[in-house]
Amino acid sequence: MSGNFFLIDTTRCIACRGCQIACKQWNKLPATKTEQYGSYQNPVELDGNTYRLVRFAEHPLKENDVVWYFFSDSCRHCLNPPCKSKADQILKDAITVTDFGAVIFTDKTSALRKNWKIIKHACPWSIPNWSEDKKMLTKCHMCHDRVEAGLLPACVKACPTDALMFGDEMNIKEIAARHLNAARKRFGDKARILDHNEVRALYLVVDDYEKYLASE
Ligand code: SF4
Ligand code: SF4
Repeated sequence: MSGNFFLIDTTRCIACRGCQIACKQWNKLPATKTEQYGSYQNPVELDGNTYRLVRFAEHPLKENDVVWYFFSDSCRHCLNPPCKSKADQILKDAITVTDFGAVIFTDKTSALRKNWKIIKHACPWSIPNWSEDKKMLTKCHMCHDRVEAGLLPACVKACPTDALMFGDEMNIKEIAARHLNAARKRFGDKARILDHNEVRALYLVVDDYEKYLASE
């Protein structure tokens, strides 16, 4: 293994949503129509035109205080992607992996229209979606076009706080170890990197993963 990795340090995220918008801009994705439903998270979920979504979760603390958790959610670019294993059973190489580890939904996924929910459910995080605009399965593709041109993924480039970082395995794992060390000093032993042996998107969290997904 080697290739490229993301680090998503949730302790540095200020929920500006620059990453979400930069992803939309680079990929020329239309806005998703939304409405106020009691949360700043917007849209409610990832969809065929939203490859990155900043999740907002609010939890009460003692003495009328609250803590906010922000989580810039997207494809983890799994080392052994279950979405690809499932898709290969139906149509070989509709999903491919680049030599630097980006998991790519190719144009061939347009033939998976009837089966797309099977692929979505194969993903542990339910990331894939069907795009009615593109008539194919969609999700983050690690900005492979930018990476091949020597550029950072659009989301990483836009992040003002280094909550999102990207680079080769050794570089990112070294930075992740430093960030984890700093997070443990501030937040204790709950600070950890999720699924660190299985994915190329290393999420540093300081509380139960479920708490990043929904408010209490
Ligand atoms: S996170 Fe989901 S969509 Fe992304 S590579 Fe892994 S299984 Fe596939
Ligand atoms: S751009 Fe960075 S700070 Fe802003 S929401 Fe995304 S991860 Fe958080």
